[in-house]
Amino acid sequence: MTDDLYDRYQRAARAYKAHREACAQCTDTAPCPDGMRLYAPLERLQDAYLTALRRRTGR
Ligand SMILES: [Zn+2]
Repeated sequence: MTDDLYDRYQRAARAYKAHREACAQCTDTAPCPDGMRLYAPLERLQDAYLTALRRRTGR
């Protein structure tokens, strides 16, 4: 099951989104250093989640 992974992915996405909405320095293409610290794990979790999803559904 990937539910735990999905939860972590969603939490990371929410944390990054909250930062983006509050931060004047982040842009779509270039997060500020603080934003990058939130974005890096989000990217990893997104990758892992999508990979697990593909594996589960078969292709
Ligand atoms: Zn920022």
